[in-house]
Amino acid sequence: MHNVSTVHASERRSSLPIYQHSIDWDEFFSEYPVPDVYERTVYRWSADQTRACQNSRFLALMRHAWGNEFYRRRWSAAGIEPGDIRSADDIVKLPVFTSDDIKDDQAENPPFGLIHAEGTAGIGHEPRKLQTSGGTTGMPRPTLYGPIEWEMNGLSFARGLYIQGARPGDVLQNPATSSLANFGWCVYKACHDYMGILPLTTGSGVVMPSRRQLELAFAWGTNIFTSFPEYLTHLAKVCREELGRDVRELNLRFLQSFLGPDVNNTLRAELESTWGCPVYDHYGLHEFGLGGFECKQQNGLHLMEDATIFEVVDVDTGEPVGPGVTGNLVVTILYRRVLPIIRMNVRDLVRIEHTDRCECGSCFRRMSKLLGRSDNMIKLRGVNVYPMACLPAVKSDPRTTGEWFCIADRRVADGAMRDEMTVQVEVRRDAASRDGLKEHLERWLHTDLGVRVAVELVDEGNLAEVANLGREGKPRRLLDRRKLGT
Ligand SMILES: [Zn+2]
Repeated sequence: MHNVSTVHASERRSSLPIYQHSIDWDEFFSEYPVPDVYERTVYRWSADQTRACQNSRFLALMRHAWGNEFYRRRWSAAGIEPGDIRSADDIVKLPVFTSDDIKDDQAENPPFGLIHAEGTAGIGHEPRKLQTSGGTTGMPRPTLYGPIEWEMNGLSFARGLYIQGARPGDVLQNPATSSLANFGWCVYKACHDYMGILPLTTGSGVVMPSRRQLELAFAWGTNIFTSFPEYLTHLAKVCREELGRDVRELNLRFLQSFLGPDVNNTLRAELESTWGCPVYDHYGLHEFGLGGFECKQQNGLHLMEDATIFEVVDVDTGEPVGPGVTGNLVVTILYRRVLPIIRMNVRDLVRIEHTDRCECGSCFRRMSKLLGRSDNMIKLRGVNVYPMACLPAVKSDPRTTGEWFCIADRRVADGAMRDEMTVQVEVRRDAASRDGLKEHLERWLHTDLGVRVAVELVDEGNLAEVANLGREGKPRRLLDRRKLGT
């Protein structure tokens, strides 16, 4: 019988790459504070203070990245030498790249690419996590995380939660499945490691049906939900029809969601009325967890500028554009070393809307909602068209269910090829009449998209399968038949 159950210090040395030993926590938290400290310090810095912080972090990142073959080759090919980059203002001299360049790199240097050299070399010596982009077709794009990258994945999300009013003891329910897709993990880690919030990572679909998720929410006291708007709408409906209850009975503190191009706040108003609580919009990518979030003012998404440098560039020329001008988001992540990200054009369409101090106290610039995703963008007769951008038009008439699906076709007429797009829009079962609806939608879409498209009205429920509705995850909004040769 042992009556002393501890292992002596001299015997405690381990040769394993233990996660808790892989970070100097004091140093890490002094650079990237935990949510409540962050809210009363870094989050309130002046624009000059933020810029100085970005500058020193950016220069440290550059020193590191010259040793990364993926970047060294690109920058050298562009005629850039280390001495050319002397401050964060010089960032515009560096060429941008896209996820296609990472895919090419990974195809030529499998499995993770030259860009992941440090990440790959560290496997077995330091903890590594692998996540992928979610909701895409084909082979997903892998991204490795070292300990710092993995911590920031959760910490960034926790900062948003805290500023929106979440507190220890809350119960946050998340229907995302913790798989190779990052979102489920990111939320879990934020709640569990940084907020004292009880995370209910229920999963959805075959893991757990919507009805059971709601039963648990009522039984276990969920007071924050996080999911995509389409699924939140579906949950409210299931609650009414299968449980005979109203989701407002949950008395949620708020909903954490992704509103997309809801520029008129119609979708937000719908969700807020259905659920009886505020809805906050977010912007994230699996490479950096949370990059932008709304504070309680709900007036633009604060960019997390101590951890990232966000630029907006012209879609066609790639030249930086000023506040108020819409363009593609170009991202530099200041803390990432395992897969450095420097000037990645993520091809998401946004604009900077506010550069002054917000009523919440922060000077971090605020961007618009996500106006379009370029991985879904199509060129239609010379115009960049974003299927997501149909949202305000489709939501503008209460006779629609708010759901739509775009089909692009190539037709030959009079010997010339012409690209056309049809927007299928669901009409509610209880709509009294469809008079003038098609014409109304076509006019509005023409204005918003900048190109004429045809509207086809379809019955409620017809788009559920093709648009991936009623399931957790991003809806699909586009079928581009031009590439299929039909
Ligand atoms: Zn604010």
